[in-house]
Formats: sequence, C-alpha cells, structure tokens
Amino acid sequence: MTMTRPARPEPGQWRDFRELAALQDARLPVIADAAARAPFYRARLGDAVPRTRQALRDTGLTTKRDLREAYPFGFLAVPRERLATYHESSGTTGVPTASYYTEDDWADLTHRYARKRVGIGAADVFLVRTPYALMITGHLAQATARRAGATVVPGDNRSLAMPYARVVRLLHDLGVTLSWSLPTEPLLWAAAARWAGHQPGRDFPALRALFVGGEPLTAARRARIAEIWAVPVVEEYGSTETGSLAGECPYERLHLWADRAIFEVHDPRTGTVSPEGRGQLVVTPLYREAMPLLRYDIEDDVEVRYEDCPCEWHLPTVRVSGRAGVGYPVGRPGSDPTGCASRSRYLTATGRPPAASSERPSAPVSGSTQRSSAWYPEPLSRTRCSPHNRTS
Ligand SMILES: [Zn+2]
Repeated sequence: MTMTRPARPEPGQWRDFRELAALQDARLPVIADAAARAPFYRARLGDAVPRTRQALRDTGLTTKRDLREAYPFGFLAVPRERLATYHESSGTTGVPTASYYTEDDWADLTHRYARKRVGIGAADVFLVRTPYALMITGHLAQATARRAGATVVPGDNRSLAMPYARVVRLLHDLGVTLSWSLPTEPLLWAAAARWAGHQPGRDFPALRALFVGGEPLTAARRARIAEIWAVPVVEEYGSTETGSLAGECPYERLHLWADRAIFEVHDPRTGTVSPEGRGQLVVTPLYREAMPLLRYDIEDDVEVRYEDCPCEWHLPTVRVSGRAGVGYPVGRPGSDPTGCASRSRYLTATGRPPAASSERPSAPVSGSTQRSSAWYPEPLSRTRCSPHNRTS
C-alpha cells in the first residue's frame, strides 16, 4: 500500500494563534476519522466522530484507565503489520499502558524531538541516558540523533551496566557534546566526575548542552545544573503515549507543539476543560496513524498560557509541575512540589566528594523527587523535602 505522507507544519508557517487554530481545525477531521478506526473509539463514538472543534469538546476525555483497559491493541487504527515499534509503561497499578507507532508516526516523533534551541548535528556525540526498555524516551532520542547524523552513545539509564564512573568516562573520553537524561542525572554525574578528579565545568570542553526531561525543572535547578556544567540546560516535555509535547525556544520558554496537537486543560475538581489555565494537560495529537488519541488526559499538572514570546513561534507556553495528585504530602496542604524542589535545590546532589577519598561514591539512585508522567511513567511524583531524603 502506498502511503501519502501528510505535510506537517513547522514554526514560521503561521503568524498568530488564530492561524495556529486554523491549522488544527483543518487537521482535526483527518485524525478523528483515523481514531474512529480503532476498536476503542469505534465503540465509544459510533457515528459521532468529532470532526469539528465543538464536536471534540463534546467528546469525553480518554483516560489512562481507558488505555489500560484497552491493552494491548484496543487503540490500534492501522493493520498490525504497519507498526514500527511497540512501547508500554506500567503505572502503579501494574497494568501496562500500551502505545505503538508506525514509521510515519516516527517521522513526526523525531521532528518534534529535534525542535530544540540547541540543535543536533552530524558532528555531535549524543549520550542517551534514559531507559530503552519498553518506554519511548531512549529510542526517541536515539532515532532523532541518528536522523541528524550524530553519533549515538546508547547509555540507557541507571543499570548495573552503566555505573556513574562509566558515564563520566564516556562523557570525558568520547567528547560527548549532547546528552539526554533526567535533570537529576547531570548533578550525579558532577559528583562522580569530581570523584574521578575532573571539574565538570572545565574538563568536558566538548559538551554543548544537556537535554533533560522526565522531572519538572525549576528555574533554580536549571540554573544550578547549568552553573555546574557551564552549558545550557534544555528542557523537553512529553510521554511514551505521545512523544514530545513541548520544547524550549531560544528564549528558554517551554512551548507546547500546538501545531502537531490540540491541547486543553482539565480541572479535575470541577470537571471543566479549557484551552488554557491551570489543571491537567489534555492532548489530541493531530498526526498519528497507529494510535490516534482524542482528548487524552495525561494527568500532569500544568499551566498553559497563550502569550507573546520574542521567538514568534506563536505557540502556547506550558509550565509543568508534576502530578500532585499522587505525590507524598509535603508540608502544609496544597504545598507545591515544584516549590519544594526549588527550595531544596538538590543541595546534597551537587557534587561534594565523599569525606574519605578512597571511598567510592555510594550509588546515588532512585526516588529522585517528583516526576511527571512524562517519559518515566512508573512511580511518580515523589516529593521528598525532608532533610533525610534530599540525597535520595
Ligand atoms: Zn518562545
């Protein structure tokens, strides 16, 4: 079967939010019809396929529970032989959430991931330090870097095969120029680098930028990481079910890729859904073959704003604060986990060498504060602000 690839928009092809909405409206009927081919939506929608914005608003949210109950292929909208990859994430319930992509979906995925204020090029040595097992994050970074002609160093994340000493050796000896990891990782690399006798901001001259995602990133943390490594810290936001949803413009604002998806904000207290404001992010990807999703409630707490930015991308901005709904109570009721992270600033993870120089650094792993469902969907939002837990 010959597939005609859809023309996907890129920043610069719309001049304001109105034209952006027009792009979305033009694409919506295509994706709604695609969704209607999946068993889940066929059963839910019947003939009420939401081809207009108003009809979409009248369509119920697709929840993580829906995804789990449709495991494994209830959302499949193409013949199985067209699938390129299968992924899943297991939430706290242990029931997997499946997601799958065609080759054409992968073109969209890698284009979105590549939209960063620091680009990926053929001269780059790209260390991928996120999981490869079933989740999309490692594969997404790898595929994007390969497409750009870069040399990929597939480091995976914390595992017995990749202790921190090895990460530091690779960063140093290979002249790694770019990396992709949780924001916590470069802090731990800094500690390991110092233990190995290196100064993070001085002895890794090839390093150009640190790409980070999977945890909400406060300005304070970002500043601290950038200060330690003396390179820009570039944030990315997305999930295994959707790929990249937002990235940074040259002015360091996190923009939602609203030319490739319709975003809404769900207030779980009132049940209302709005185009902007604070609440849980709801996404309708507009270029999706294998697994179209209509109004998928990703359940991350966000604030979406339509505001002018000097980048002139004319894309909404987003602030991601994790998933407070499943976090540990922190201080007084209503405390913001991001605020907690901002105040703690990961002070003890910033690289003080062990007291005894002969002592290897203890494995500084796991439980790294709150995560958004983005990229790392298992145990989430662990906000630990007590003095005992700052190093965990
Ligand atoms: Zn901008």
